[in-house]
Amino acid sequence: MTHQPVLDLHTHSNRSDGLDTPAYLMQRAKRLGVDLIGLADHDTTDGWAEGLASAKQLGLGFLPAIEISTHAVLSSKKRISVHILAYRPDPNHPKLVEELAKTRESRVGRAKRMVELISEDYPISWEEITQHIRPGSTVGRPAIADALARAGIVKDRSAAFDTILHKSSPYYISEHSLSTTEAIELAIEAGAAPVIAHPLMDFPAGKSTADLPDTHFKEMVEAGLKGLEVYHRQVPKAAREWLLDFAKNHNLFTTGSSDYHGVGGKVNELGENSTSVEDFRSLIAQSSGADYYLPEELDWL
Ligand code: AMP
Ligand code: FE
Ligand code: FE
Ligand code: ZN
Repeated sequence: MTHQPVLDLHTHSNRSDGLDTPAYLMQRAKRLGVDLIGLADHDTTDGWAEGLASAKQLGLGFLPAIEISTHAVLSSKKRISVHILAYRPDPNHPKLVEELAKTRESRVGRAKRMVELISEDYPISWEEITQHIRPGSTVGRPAIADALARAGIVKDRSAAFDTILHKSSPYYISEHSLSTTEAIELAIEAGAAPVIAHPLMDFPAGKSTADLPDTHFKEMVEAGLKGLEVYHRQVPKAAREWLLDFAKNHNLFTTGSSDYHGVGGKVNELGENSTSVEDFRSLIAQSSGADYYLPEELDWL
């Protein structure tokens, strides 16, 4: 190894709300000098086979993952959506298969209802949207954002998320999901290492870390949480120190990732953050459900 390897542990393909095929994503990663990709589509393992085959051809590392939609109830008024990354889950674990299917189905119903509401005020339709998404892919608000952009109502995905698709918008509906601790326990059962994706991404700048949901984090550790995705562009600098400290005190590894969704899907670029070899080793040592792949020249494990 002549350079520090770039390990990008969290990316999305068109099997969920990314724009690239898994194969194209791997080609782009190779071009940009990334050494290993974690493919973590929302609530599906569908892209793994194509991603792995492409990684092998290109001499890239491949880490199979999923990003599970979950929720946490922090108080009678506060229900938040939390994404849990599960690294190397057994893709055939019956309960995991069943739960992911349930979440994907509920995402379709929820997206349809949102489109129904939006279409009372703006000219978009569910039929038009289905023509633009890959059959079977996990549907999310990005598919609706793309329709709003095609109709000229917003400039791009981000503009849609800031307005019509925002969580506080009257058109917003949430999908069915497991609770954070249920998802963590299920991930562990399926042989995966669970990691909180972009933790505290809505943490307001200038707010005191004393306001953080310390108790909830401890509950997740008790359920089996193994890591925190600290290095992600949406994790506010003010929260990072608290997270690093928490990770150290609870023996969690930390990861760095892009959360790439394709060019135009999000500004996030492949390889913009990386996970250290040491943290990667720790992740591998604590997961066993699915095989990862490392080309020989990268095999420093
Ligand atoms: P959903 O899963 O349907 O609630 O939609 C959330 C997904 O939308 C996230 O996983 C992100 O990938 C994507 N997303 C959120 N905010 C933005 C944004 N500003 N621009 C593009 N994509 C976004
Ligand atoms: Fe996404
Ligand atoms: Fe996420
Ligand atoms: Zn993601």
